[in-house]
Amino acid sequence: MVEADGDRILRSVHASYPVPGVIRLARYIRGRHRRSSGSLRSKVLFRDRFVCQYCGGHGSAKTLTLDHILPRSRGGHTSPENLAAACVPCNSRKGNRTPLEARMPLLSEPAAFMYDLDLAILEGAADGRPEWRKYLFRDEQISASA
Ligand SMILES: [Zn+2]
Repeated sequence: MVEADGDRILRSVHASYPVPGVIRLARYIRGRHRRSSGSLRSKVLFRDRFVCQYCGGHGSAKTLTLDHILPRSRGGHTSPENLAAACVPCNSRKGNRTPLEARMPLLSEPAAFMYDLDLAILEGAADGRPEWRKYLFRDEQISASA
């Protein structure tokens, strides 16, 4: 354990332990070769921070849809680079068109979607865990992309 999670304590019948907030693995687990967890849908929604990528409206897993940026009927793949969170009105307004044809530019460039989805999930989860920032190098990423 590197850092405790505040004053929280895990109690068993015979002992009590501080709840870890940050742990260090004694052995590195190669994440790239593990099957990634979670559905593609939830990953894309997390990546897009539950914001419609066309109008900027906030939604939830229940209200947001996944839009194929290049429509499936026109050869668009169901892959992270071609998927964006979209609210129902935007998704139906865009219909079977590209963002350019529909005059609906994406708020984030799809190129920005190319980074690791699992990292995006972690960063999303880290929003509520400011003590993780220094371990995730988030500040460096922000200044590097500015
Ligand atoms: Zn929208």
